[in-house]
Amino acid sequence: MTTALNCCTEIQPMQRDFSGQGSRLAGISFHTIEATLENFMPYFYVNKNKQANGDNEVHRSDEVNCPNPALSQNRVDLGWHLGCQGAVQAAKNLGYKANGCYYCANECHTT
Ligand SMILES: [Zn+2]
Repeated sequence: MTTALNCCTEIQPMQRDFSGQGSRLAGISFHTIEATLENFMPYFYVNKNKQANGDNEVHRSDEVNCPNPALSQNRVDLGWHLGCQGAVQAAKNLGYKANGCYYCANECHTT
């Protein structure tokens, strides 16, 4: 009494094809926005090692150019956020005195 469906074995991982190199912002459409949302949203972490002024800096972990990243053992994942504001708020919710990194989250850098 096996009524297993064979219909789904040929589904290809098409969504992954949208994450192509360099032009991710150019090719967006309503059809691809769901598939690429994960790729658009930067991933953030907070440095649990405080700065001299007591702030915990929030960084983008996909920002390879950040010249002041946290050591990996000091990173606390904040997850994907549309912008650093959400990431900073998430860090604050965790109890950190969060502030955006001057380099990779400058729009949230206040002190
Ligand atoms: Zn940074």
